[in-house]
Amino acid sequence: MKIDNLIDFIDLDEVVNLTGWIDNIRDHGGLTFIDLRDFTGNIQLVYDKSLDVNDNLKNEYYISISGLFKKRDDSLINPKIFLGDSEIQVSSLEVISESKTLPFQIENEIDTDENIRLKYRYLDLRRNSMKVNILTRSKTFKSIRTIMNNLKINEIDTPTLIKSTPEGAKDFIVPSRKSPSNFYALPQSPQMYKQLFMMAGFPNYYQIAKCYRDEDSRKDRQPEFTQLDLEFADANPEIVKTNVETIVQFVFQDAYDCNIQTPFKTLSYTDCINLYGTDKPDLRIKETLIDITDIFSNTNINFLKNIIDDEGLVKGLHSKNTLTRKQIDSLDSEIKDLGATGLGWLKVDSGKISGPLSKLLNENEISKILEFGEGTLLFQAGKLENIAKYLDIIRRSIFKTSTDEVYSFVWIEDFPYFEYENDQLQPSHHPFTSPKDDDVFKEDPIKSTALHYDLVLNGVELGSGSQRINNPQIQKIVLEKWGLSQDEINERFGWFIEALSYGTPVHAGFAIGIDRLVAEVLNQPSIRDVIPFPKTQSGHDPLTNAPANIDEHTLEEYNLKYINKDE
Ligand code: ASP
Repeated sequence: MKIDNLIDFIDLDEVVNLTGWIDNIRDHGGLTFIDLRDFTGNIQLVYDKSLDVNDNLKNEYYISISGLFKKRDDSLINPKIFLGDSEIQVSSLEVISESKTLPFQIENEIDTDENIRLKYRYLDLRRNSMKVNILTRSKTFKSIRTIMNNLKINEIDTPTLIKSTPEGAKDFIVPSRKSPSNFYALPQSPQMYKQLFMMAGFPNYYQIAKCYRDEDSRKDRQPEFTQLDLEFADANPEIVKTNVETIVQFVFQDAYDCNIQTPFKTLSYTDCINLYGTDKPDLRIKETLIDITDIFSNTNINFLKNIIDDEGLVKGLHSKNTLTRKQIDSLDSEIKDLGATGLGWLKVDSGKISGPLSKLLNENEISKILEFGEGTLLFQAGKLENIAKYLDIIRRSIFKTSTDEVYSFVWIEDFPYFEYENDQLQPSHHPFTSPKDDDVFKEDPIKSTALHYDLVLNGVELGSGSQRINNPQIQKIVLEKWGLSQDEINERFGWFIEALSYGTPVHAGFAIGIDRLVAEVLNQPSIRDVIPFPKTQSGHDPLTNAPANIDEHTLEEYNLKYINKDE
C-alpha cells in the first residue's frame, strides 16, 4: 500500500501494510519513532520495546511494516505536515534491504557538490525537491500528448543513427563495425526527417525528440536534450505561432495550473536589439535602452567623438537610483571580462554631476544630462552590434523584474538570414529556413531576412522555428551562399534536394526546449536540475563515467585507432 492511500482508502484503527525508506529515526525513552517515506509521502511509525525489532535500523533502510493506522495523541499532532495528525502503531517490521552510509542526506536543501549528487543521482532523486522536478517534467510530457491528441497532430518517430543534420553545432559521430571507416551522426534535431514527412504527405507531425549537439561548454547547455518538435504542411509562420500558443497555453494550464494569456507579443529582431540589446529580452523588466548619441553630437570627449564620427552610437540606461561605486565597479569588471572597454557612467546627485567624464562635459551635455533627473546614467559607445550584449547585461543587473507578470512570452521575428559566428557566415536559424524574399536573398543574402521566429520566455529562448524552403533551386542557392562547394552540396544534401523535387507543400515548424521550459517554470538554476540523468558542464556523466575509453582491440573492429589516448 502507498502512504497517500491512507487518507482516502483506510479508516482509522485499520491494519495497514506499507513499504518504504526510513527517512529518520528518533528514540524517545521507551518509544521509537520512524518517519517512513515512499513515493507518495511520509508517515510516522511508532513502536515500543515489546516489539522484537532489529536495533540497528538506519536511514534509507527499505522496510516493510504492518500496524494500526491511528490518530496521534492531541499533544503530538503536527498540523503543518501531511498526515501530521496520524501515525501507525507498528506490530511487525521487516528489513527488506539495508543501506550503506549515505554520501549525503536525503533532504530538500543540501549543499553537496553537484558531481557527488550526479554520481549518486538515484539518491539525489529520492529528495523531495528533485522528485517534484522530475514529476513536473513527467506531467509536461503527459499534457503535451493530450493537447497533441486534441489537435490531431500525429506522433511519429525519426531515426537517431543518421547522416548529419546541421543545427549550428558539431555532431556526435557513431562508428559502425559493419561499415568501418564510415560514420553515422546522432541528430542535432529531427529537422530534415520532419520535413520529409511533409513531402511524404503527412499533414503534421510531432515528436518528443532527443537531440544531440557536441557543443563547446556553453552555459547551461546539455549535449543531449529533449524538445517538442513540430511540423505542419500548408503552413506559414502565423499558423505555426497560433498552434504553439495553443499548445503552450494548454500545457501551462494542465501541467502547471497556470493561466497564461495569448496571443503573445511580437517584436522584430531589429527593435529587440535597439530596445533591449538582445534577441532574448526579459520583458518583465520594463526599462529599455535609450539612444543618447545626440547629446554628444558636439562633444569634447575625444573617444566619444571618434566613435560618433565613425557612425557609432552612444546607448545607455538610466536608473533613478544612485548606484554605489562598488556596484558600478563590479558591473564594470563583469562586462570588461566579456570584452567591453569599460562602463561609462555619470551620476546626478543633489543636482550635481559626477563621474570620470563629468569634467569634460560641455554646457549642452550638462543640461541634457540634468534633464534625466537624479540617478545614474550608464552607457556604452560603439557599433550597436558590438555593444549590445554589454547593454543587455547592464539592463538585467540594474533593474528589477516587475512582479505583476510571472511569465512573459514574446515572439521575435525578422531575423537576418545570416550572421557572423567566429568570422564565418552562418544561417541565424538553419539552412532549411526560407528567406523572406527569394529575390532579395539572391541579390544580397547578407541583407536578407529569414522567415524564422523564436519564442522567448522571461529572457530565455524557449524555442525556434521557421517556414522552410520548399523549392529545390532556392535550397541549393542557400547552401551555395552559405559557402558550400557544389561537391559538398551534392555529397551532404543531394538526397534532400532530390526529395524536395517531387512536389513539396509549403511547410513550417517549431521546436520547444522541454528541459528549459520545465526549468523556467520551476525557477531552477540549471536545466540539469530537471533532467533525470544529466551530464556535467563538461559533458561527463559522474554516475557511469561516460564518455570512456574503449579498448584497442574493440577499436580495431571499427578500423579506429587512438592518436593520443589520454585526451
Ligand atoms: N530544428 C530546429 C531546432 O532544433 C527547430 C525548427 O526549425 O523546427 O532548433
